[in-house]
Amino acid sequence: MIEILNRTELDRAKVTGALVADILQSVRSRSTVGTNLLDIDRWAQAMILEAGAQSCYVDYAPSFGRGPFGHYICTSVNDAVLHGLPHDYALADGDLLTLDIAVIKGGVAADSAISFIIGDSAPPESVAMISTTERALAAGIAVAGPGARIGDISHAIGSVLGEAGYPINTQFGGHGIGSTMHQDPHIANTGRPGRGFVLRPGLMLALEPWIMADTAELITDPDGWTLRSATGCRTAHSEHTIAITESGAEILTLPASAR
Ligand code: MG
Ligand code: MG
Repeated sequence: MIEILNRTELDRAKVTGALVADILQSVRSRSTVGTNLLDIDRWAQAMILEAGAQSCYVDYAPSFGRGPFGHYICTSVNDAVLHGLPHDYALADGDLLTLDIAVIKGGVAADSAISFIIGDSAPPESVAMISTTERALAAGIAVAGPGARIGDISHAIGSVLGEAGYPINTQFGGHGIGSTMHQDPHIANTGRPGRGFVLRPGLMLALEPWIMADTAELITDPDGWTLRSATGCRTAHSEHTIAITESGAEILTLPASAR
């Protein structure tokens, strides 16, 4: 199903998007060497409940995960890239942490992810991976507007990832979003321009380029949720929720400093 949101729903989406961004930035600022992933989950839970919002994750039980997720935020460390189940793990200096969160407020969902390095010793290859996903996300957003097609977004994202030399996995990618977190259309992180669904005002999308340093193959952690690189290499992921407008695309999950 593909939803087209009306003006009231889009106004609500802005509120949800700002909440998601605020949670990510708050949790990021508090995540330091020694922070436990379960603390991060509790911080996210508190902010969601305080805002009168609902988690999209806690009861989420899709075919690719084991039962309800049971937590409020995805915490993926180093070789973990998607659906990271929070564990009893204390972050170490130089760890690459990806936080991914989706919530619903006022009947509208928003979804965003950031990757960053814990502590002071940032490995240059990890910094490069993170900035590549951020550049790919910006490239995808730049071509999103009325009349463009899903394939244009996929091509823009895939061009940045591919030119930087990273393999691209097409099992998981971006998606439509609206009254629920995951909707059609699927947005692969590589593709041919000029193909696919035509974008129009009111369509809301989550774009999410993610990469693994030297492989396109995922393995599932014994926890039944966390997806890791098959080679143990590091990974990165950047995601924004955007709304197609009459003139282009509006990013709904920008941090407060950029709004
Ligand atoms: Mg997400
Ligand atoms: Mg998403």
